Amino acid sequence: MNSENQGAYLEVENLVKWFGDDPAVDNISFGIPKGAFLTLLGPSGCGKTTTLMSVAGLHSIDSGRIRVGDVVYTSPKEGIFLPPEKRDIGMVFQSYAIWPHMTVTQNVAYPLEIRKVPQSEIDDRVADVLALVGLTDMAEKMATQLSGGQQQRASLARAIVAQPRLLLFDEPLSNLDLKLREQMRVELKRIQNEVGITSIYVTHDQSEALVMSDEIIVMSKGHIEQRGGPLEIYSRPVNEYVSNFIGVANLIKGRVVKVTEPGRGTVKITDHGKDIQVTCNLGPGISEGSDAVLSVRPENVHAERENGNGTSLEGEVLQAIFLGSHVDCRVQWGDFEWKVIAHPRARLKQGEKVYLRLDPEHTLAVQP
Ligand code: ATP
Repeated sequence: MNSENQGAYLEVENLVKWFGDDPAVDNISFGIPKGAFLTLLGPSGCGKTTTLMSVAGLHSIDSGRIRVGDVVYTSPKEGIFLPPEKRDIGMVFQSYAIWPHMTVTQNVAYPLEIRKVPQSEIDDRVADVLALVGLTDMAEKMATQLSGGQQQRASLARAIVAQPRLLLFDEPLSNLDLKLREQMRVELKRIQNEVGITSIYVTHDQSEALVMSDEIIVMSKGHIEQRGGPLEIYSRPVNEYVSNFIGVANLIKGRVVKVTEPGRGTVKITDHGKDIQVTCNLGPGISEGSDAVLSVRPENVHAERENGNGTSLEGEVLQAIFLGSHVDCRVQWGDFEWKVIAHPRARLKQGEKVYLRLDPEHTLAVQP
C-alpha cells in the first residue's frame, strides 16, 4: 500500500497499461478522499482517458491495483477484475450518450429500473435529480428535442440518479460552445458538491481544471508531473512543463547562483549580453549551480517608465491591447518577448521604452 494514500476512498496504485509496445500509463499512483473532485489534466495522448477507463473497468490493466472504499476493482496480481456493471459508477462522456428514443424521464430513470427500485421511489428520485440539473420543464420531452447543453444535463442526471460510488467524466463539456461551457463548469461543480459523489474528471482544458477541481493531477506521457490544488499548481508549478501547460508564463533559462535560505535564492539570466541576478523562490529539486527556468506570470511583471532600483530589465513595448480592466502587453527584451499585464492607467504605448520589474515573491525558479 502506498502510505501517502492510506485512508483514501479511491486508490490507484502503480497503474500500468500498455498498448502494443508503448505504455499509455506508466506506473501512476494517486488517492482521492471521499466526495472530492479530482481532475486529470494533460495534452492529448498523455494517458488521462486510459486511467479513467481503467477505473471504470472498460479495459484491463497490465499491473497495479485499483480500490474504491473496501472493494478492490482491479488487481491482476491477485487475479481480481470486477466487471464494469458491478463497479457502481456513473459516467458522463463528451458525446451525450443519452438514448434518443426515450424521454428525458425515461433516460434518467433507467439506472434505477435496472436496479429494480420501486416505481414510486423512481418517480421521486428522477424528479429531484431533474430539479437539481434544471431540467424539470423538459421531463417529458424526447431526448432529441434537447439542446447540447440540456442533453449533457440529462446525462449528468442519469449518472447521479442512482447515487453511485464514483462519478467519472471524460471531457463532458468539449462539444459545447464557449459560453455554455463556462456556465456548465460552474454548474457541474455545484451539482457535484451538492451530491457529494467522489469524482474523476478528465480534460485537456486548463481553465476548466482550475475552475472545477479540488485537486488537479497534471500528466504527460503516462506520468504524473504534479498533483495539487488549483492555486498551488498555478502559483507553484514544479517544472517548466507544468508552468507552461497551466495558464500563461514567461519562461527564461538561467542558472542558480546562490541559495540564500531554504526555498529562496538568486538566478543568473543574461540581459543584452550582460549577466544579471534575479532574486526568486526556488522550486523543488533546485540547488546551487543547477540549470533552472525562471517562471513569471504576466500579472507579476511590472512595466515601468523608470528603472526604480536599477535592476529592472530594459525592453520595448511591441504591442499593448486594451481589454477594459487591464492591458495585455508584449515587451521585446533581447530575443525574448515578455507577456505583461499592465494597468490601463499606465497608458503604455507601442514602441515605448519600459523597464520590467519582476516581483521576487512571485518569480519562481523551476526545473527545466
Ligand atoms: P485524449 O484526450 O486524446 O483522449 P488522453 O490523454 O486521454 O488523450 P489516452 O486516450 O489515454 O490519452 O491515450 C494514451 C496513449 O495510449 C496514446 O498514445 C494513445 O494513442 C494510446 N491508446 C489509447 N487507447 C488505445 C487503444 N485502444 N489502442 C491502442 N492505443 C491506444
